[in-house]
Amino acid sequence: SLVLGIESSCDDTGVAVVRASDGAILGQAITGQVDIHAPWGGVVPKLAQEAHGRAMQSTVQAALQQAGISEEQLDGVAVTIGPGLSLCLQVGVHQARRMAGQHSLKYIPVHHMEAHALIARAGTAVAFPFLCLLVSGGHNMLVVVEGVGSYTLLGSTLDDAVGEAFDKVARLLGLQLDPSGGAAVEALAREGDDQRFRFSRPLVRKPNCNFSYAGLKTAVRLAINAELKGPPSEADRQMRADIAASFQRVALEHLEDRVARAAGWALEEWPGIKHLVVAGGVAANQLLRSKLQALAEKQGLELAVPPPKLCTDNGVMVAWAGIERMRLGLWEHLPAHDAAAEEEWVDVRPRWPLTDRRDSRSLSEP
Ligand code: ATP
Ligand code: FE
Repeated sequence: SLVLGIESSCDDTGVAVVRASDGAILGQAITGQVDIHAPWGGVVPKLAQEAHGRAMQSTVQAALQQAGISEEQLDGVAVTIGPGLSLCLQVGVHQARRMAGQHSLKYIPVHHMEAHALIARAGTAVAFPFLCLLVSGGHNMLVVVEGVGSYTLLGSTLDDAVGEAFDKVARLLGLQLDPSGGAAVEALAREGDDQRFRFSRPLVRKPNCNFSYAGLKTAVRLAINAELKGPPSEADRQMRADIAASFQRVALEHLEDRVARAAGWALEEWPGIKHLVVAGGVAANQLLRSKLQALAEKQGLELAVPPPKLCTDNGVMVAWAGIERMRLGLWEHLPAHDAAAEEEWVDVRPRWPLTDRRDSRSLSEP
């Protein structure tokens, strides 16, 4: 059976067709919006909504075409209903409801962060429970994933997410933001001296699993103001690389530090944990992967990180989370003429904690 996944929670329109039996990706398409938001210094919800609206049909068609199937051959449609930008989520949910209603397909609402976390299981040996570091543009958490919809939070950020810090530093350094600020900082950092700036590591005296990136962000901004004058030039390229490398070193040290503690906590309570999963856009970072590889080995865990393209927002992860839910009967049947699909407003959850058990239970009892 085949499931189509739709992602539109932020600034990527992602669609994919995934086979339930083995997680094979039969078709995938993604339409980005970097150029649209670049002049504004952040994602503008109204512009993002319009761009999703323009891209949705063609992105769905591209994924279906690549898979060589038509809508009726699908078994289900999964869609991100939150968390994310309300206006943007609406576009995906409308599309999904229309398709599900028209062809009486299973409708599967998906939590965006659950999709980031579960994609690590597609076609792999990763079993529940597992320890998961979720690091993206808007989230920074350590959770134990006990099952679909069942999460125990070990720590989260007190202020900013690490991906947001990467994006901010990329902007301050005047880097090209396509495909992402994080990727640009990582690339420039390869040429830099990561010891040139001794930014202090956040929360060193707090023996817990929480994160903080606001202080580091400020420290980097001050260093940039002190060292760089005017727009990027060849003359100051080395300085920029050194700042990028020093920032990245400390940003990743903070993650490693927290993951090491979380692994200790988690293994005590859940001795069956075999895998450390790293998920979300920042998991695309190669240096983070190699650091956590070493850490996992020391803790007797196996590291599981999805391929970079499945770490940043995409339709595949939504389709896969839909498959995991569908297997448990966690789907909805929509009427052929679903009124909600036609109305302007549909039910989305812009703010929706991953660990909200009331919500996950209400989803699991359709
Ligand atoms: P959320 O998932 O929290 O709603 P989002 O969907 O906007 O946020 P993702 O697409 O999951 O975020 O991830 C994007 C983030 O990942 C951006 O902050 C981006 O800079 C970061 N990122 C992508 N590639 C890298 C990399 N190689 N190194 C560091 N950060 C990266
Ligand atoms: Fe995301």
